[in-house]
Amino acid sequence: MVIARPAVQAMPAYRPGRNPADLARELGIDRAVKLASNEVPFPPLPAVLEALAATAGETHRYPDNGAVVLTAALAERYGVDPAQVVPGGGAVLLCQQLAQSFNDPGTAIAFAWRSFEMYPLLAQVAGARSLRVPLVPSSPGGSPDTHDLDGLAAVVDDDTRLVFVCNPNNPTGTAVRRPELERFLDRVPETVLVVLDEAYREFVTDPDVPDGVELMRGRPNVAVLRTMSKAWGLAGLRVGYLLAEDPAVADAVRRTHVPFSLATLAQAAAVAALRSEEEVRGRVAAVVAERDRLTAALRGRGLEVPDSQANFVWLPLGEATAAVAAALEGRGVITRPFAGEGLRVTVGTPEEDDLFLAALDEVTSGASGTTGDDVRTGAPVG
Ligand SMILES: *Cc1c(COP(=O)(O)O)cnc(C)c1O
Repeated sequence: MVIARPAVQAMPAYRPGRNPADLARELGIDRAVKLASNEVPFPPLPAVLEALAATAGETHRYPDNGAVVLTAALAERYGVDPAQVVPGGGAVLLCQQLAQSFNDPGTAIAFAWRSFEMYPLLAQVAGARSLRVPLVPSSPGGSPDTHDLDGLAAVVDDDTRLVFVCNPNNPTGTAVRRPELERFLDRVPETVLVVLDEAYREFVTDPDVPDGVELMRGRPNVAVLRTMSKAWGLAGLRVGYLLAEDPAVADAVRRTHVPFSLATLAQAAAVAALRSEEEVRGRVAAVVAERDRLTAALRGRGLEVPDSQANFVWLPLGEATAAVAAALEGRGVITRPFAGEGLRVTVGTPEEDDLFLAALDEVTSGASGTTGDDVRTGAPVG
């Protein structure tokens, strides 16, 4: 019998998310809604569909391994040199490349927790230690939902090679602001790479939340990770990119690129999407307006909801989380529970969000098939 590495055996098995069509069939309802993966609720951009059709005839060839056209488009978009840009097959793949490029076994990766689920997993695969710094409340008396940057700076030790700061944070939606982030970057040793994971940057409306690309200037140990999966609507095509202040950082990440892992269609679609920025801005504005409506609707129901700077909201339901998610799913609404902590709900269309709110009302009012838990307190009722 062949045996996987202990670190790999210890990893959680992959659990596929519920597919809305299957769920609707199972429940015998017209339509289930999926608010679980932070996609935007719009079809692909027209220019993307055109680019895909136009490029289909080239797919018998390997992709451009250097993604030259996309790299140039990104460099121009952000006012950086192409040598500072590393496109990849999704930001998650770039996360993995970062660990491969900077973490020898026995070194460490620091990040806040709860944050993006990939961080501990990629540390585990790399044989690196995870240094997890618990979130702290963003408002007095609230649930822990935001970065403790002083705590994060304090855990960085001689073995630490990489620090991830997810801003806004997935899954809580909170964002850290310029002065605290600058103070943090000033404290981290120059030998440690700080990656600002800005997967949701396009949805940020608070002017005090800094743009990582501006913040990294003059700081050679800072890089910014972005994705085209969220605001740009290319989740199914897998495109992300790293922007590094120091071209040597970009060069190191390019060296662990899995050859041809950024497909021809993905490259073409990403270039077309970048040319449709006005349209993307319009879509983002609609998502932001709906985020604010959804937040207000939830708060109006007496629920604690931190200010979200992303395209999802966080409900810190504590012990009630898993039961509420299951009860919502029983009503055709798929969300993303983090058992014992909270529920992440992607901002959908107004119609989808209304279906979610109606299902939530049923669940919390104790209508048939409910959990018996009081979601406000997380305490079992009776
Ligand atoms: C979604 C997400 C990503 C990555 O997305 P890709 O689809 O792999 O580009 C990276 N970081 C965070 C925090 C995310 O939520």
